[in-house]
Amino acid sequence: MPASTSDGGRDIVLVGGGHSHIIVLREIGLRALAGARLTLISSAARTPYSGMLPGYVAGHYDFDQVHVDLPRLASFAAARFIADEVTAIDRAARLVQCRSGRTLPWDLLSIDVGSTPRVDLAASAAAHVVPVKPIGSFNQRWLALVERARRIAAIAGAAPPSLTIAVVGGGAAGVELLLAIQYRLQHEFARLRADPARLRCHLLTRDDDILPTHAPRVRQRFRRVLAARDVQLHLRTSVDAAGAGWLEWPSAPGRQHLAADEVVWATGAVGADWLQASGLAVDAHGFLLVGDTLQTLADPRIFAAGDCATMVEHRREKAGVFAVRMGRPLAENLRQAAAGGALTAYRPQRRWLALISTGDRYGVASRGSLFTAGRWVWHWKDWIDRRFMRLFSHLPQKSA
Ligand SMILES: Cc1cc2nc3c(=O)[nH]c(=O)nc-3n(C[C@H](O)[C@H](O)[C@H](O)COP(=O)(O)OP(=O)(O)OC[C@H]3O[C@@H](n4cnc5c(N)ncnc54)[C@H](O)[C@@H]3O)c2cc1C
Repeated sequence: MPASTSDGGRDIVLVGGGHSHIIVLREIGLRALAGARLTLISSAARTPYSGMLPGYVAGHYDFDQVHVDLPRLASFAAARFIADEVTAIDRAARLVQCRSGRTLPWDLLSIDVGSTPRVDLAASAAAHVVPVKPIGSFNQRWLALVERARRIAAIAGAAPPSLTIAVVGGGAAGVELLLAIQYRLQHEFARLRADPARLRCHLLTRDDDILPTHAPRVRQRFRRVLAARDVQLHLRTSVDAAGAGWLEWPSAPGRQHLAADEVVWATGAVGADWLQASGLAVDAHGFLLVGDTLQTLADPRIFAAGDCATMVEHRREKAGVFAVRMGRPLAENLRQAAAGGALTAYRPQRRWLALISTGDRYGVASRGSLFTAGRWVWHWKDWIDRRFMRLFSHLPQKSA
């Protein structure tokens, strides 16, 4: 049965301007959605493209190159854009509640709000670390860190101060981010003719190895890169306490303490608390459980995609590549749901290509057991990423 409001129109509300929803908006901009009012609510007006984030941190791209302008894209799709943060869903009344106090009605709802790193620390300790997501807050801390690095690098003398960075999380995001941070800050030190050795970097992971979901050759290559760049790697290390300028973890025979000027948290992801509070079914990490049509198990009027959704029949890693791929089937199923048509099942690919950069313009390609690396991999990735971003910066002209 088609969802409809009392006046016969349909309110389709997209929550979050993530990777799936930007594809949905583009698709609907290319082929209008009849008889429905489309609204995008997103906490950020500029949404980052994850593939280019480490390149932004490394200084290879500027802010605009790695962000999609959501109000402009919404306008292309003839959708309203509302800059707000959704804090709750009232399923009985079919309303979403926003941080500003505003409520919005919906007939069909689609959620693509991403994930945040799981910070396993007491709240007082968590306040001293910088989660890599949401990216907006991370970016502010990052810009402040670059300024701080410049100030420290400018101090000369017999015993100039050093700057210590620690990244917690040994997955692709943590490793890639640490190498990007190091590359950029070393560049800042070099620019001010300061000894780059005054910058110290640590990578900490509770696992036995970095990049645990990648092939042994990929892990080995990155271990070598980290060693060559003097990054101190702490394996089997579960950070459980942090304060201003330090972090700690249990170890035999006693606790270990590390002084660090900035601690970036990039561990495994979890879903937002309000998703669980919605009464919709979630998995152990708080992600919404969806079926093959991307409808939530508990409520067929609510769709979810990207990191915040777990496909019960096809569990995959949380990665932007899957969020992007869900975009088209989501657009089509929203269209069908609004018209009362039959929805189509979507099956994500099992294997995917990860292109991981090493901070400089060098990349490693990893897919299942396949591995290759080189400067050309970085240029290939750069070409793919720029082409993707052109889909949103160069929107097609629409006939009047
Ligand atoms: C450093 C780093 C590098 C990465 N590199 C890669 C990579 O190379 N390849 C890859 O495939 N994956 C990569 N990832 C993973 C990737 O970032 C995520 O899988 C991807 O961003 C998920 O997309 P999404 O659409 O689910 O959500 P997101 O891209 O996180 O978007 C969520 C959107 O929702 C908005 N939002 C959030 N909460 C609310 C709310 N309550 N109300 C309204 N709006 C809200 C946010 O502002 C944002 O616009 C990387 C991650 C990190 C941290």
